[in-house]
Amino acid sequence: MLSIESLRQELSVPRKIAIIPHQKPDADALGSGLALWGFFKNKGHQPTVVSPTDYPDFLFWMPGNSEVLVYSDKTKEACAKIIGEAAIIFCLDFNDLKRCEPLDIFINANTSAIKVMIDHHQDKKDFADFEYCRVTAAATAELIYEFISLLGNEADITTDIASCIYAGIMTDTGSFKYPATTATIHRIVANLLEKGIDHTAIHRNIYDTSTLDRLKLQGFALSERLKVIPELNTAYFVLSKTDLGRFRHQTGDTEGLVNYGLSIKGIKLSVILKEDEGFVKMSLRSVGNFSVNEVARMHFNGGGHINAAGGRLNMSIQEAEVAFLEALKNYANILATTS
Ligand code: 5GP
Ligand code: MN
Repeated sequence: MLSIESLRQELSVPRKIAIIPHQKPDADALGSGLALWGFFKNKGHQPTVVSPTDYPDFLFWMPGNSEVLVYSDKTKEACAKIIGEAAIIFCLDFNDLKRCEPLDIFINANTSAIKVMIDHHQDKKDFADFEYCRVTAAATAELIYEFISLLGNEADITTDIASCIYAGIMTDTGSFKYPATTATIHRIVANLLEKGIDHTAIHRNIYDTSTLDRLKLQGFALSERLKVIPELNTAYFVLSKTDLGRFRHQTGDTEGLVNYGLSIKGIKLSVILKEDEGFVKMSLRSVGNFSVNEVARMHFNGGGHINAAGGRLNMSIQEAEVAFLEALKNYANILATTS
């Protein structure tokens, strides 16, 4: 394991740096990436954010977004080159290289690069030379703030960098309501406000820029596709490709929807099963100490945090619903007890 001192040394001369968020990056993954990107660029390095997949357009306002290289058939060679030539590779908001497929192959192929992991998820895999990880952190963006401070550069956080960090913290804390929202988080945010960020605009850019189709998809999902199992205090949505197609679904359109399940009195577990190309993507949320990270790991090839996790099943949407209901039986006792 490299020390922060050696990493600081590495960064004392201009470097080519690849910055990788997880698949379908959210505001925390992309915000962390673009914050680091802005910071390294201002320091004279050559950073590139390489995203394994596309991401929602409500993140396009982030400073540096136009410079992000998104993996596709057309950009495959360019991604391989950037990651292959990087002296340092930052892996952000994930702790298992599977989460950045198909870029994992390029990362593994670059055996000389220093690999840095900055993350707050559970069940870390050991692949990095330097780790800055804490599962109690509310967001990876919180760790990015600390990491830049640790390098001795807090003063170099510009308004643009601060805006990206704020976006990650705001979204991963559920707008400052989840239990991981500590006094320290509020102090960090106070510092970000003093860097001149426009928090009202950031909130609006992320939460209030829906298309009419997206809003209608959410309304449809709530009225037609939400099922409740009262005896298990569980709510779940099943969305087929036909449902999604009807509302011209775009990446990010169902983000936040799963939380509505938890807004029903007494509900402890809310899940979305969403049909994709040849697989079903699952999104799980819970309240209290019921661990959806464990459920996702044990049954849905995924993981995450205690109260927010994801996974996938390689089967039809109908089979996935059956598999989900089957898996729930293992937790019937815990779910049935209220409190
Ligand atoms: P979301 O439901 O918003 O996609 O993800 C919730 C949390 O679970 C996020 O922290 C995300 O990084 C994590 N997550 C989502 N999908 C997966 C997955 O397939 N595997 C793992 N390990 N984590 C996931
Ligand atoms: Mn995160």
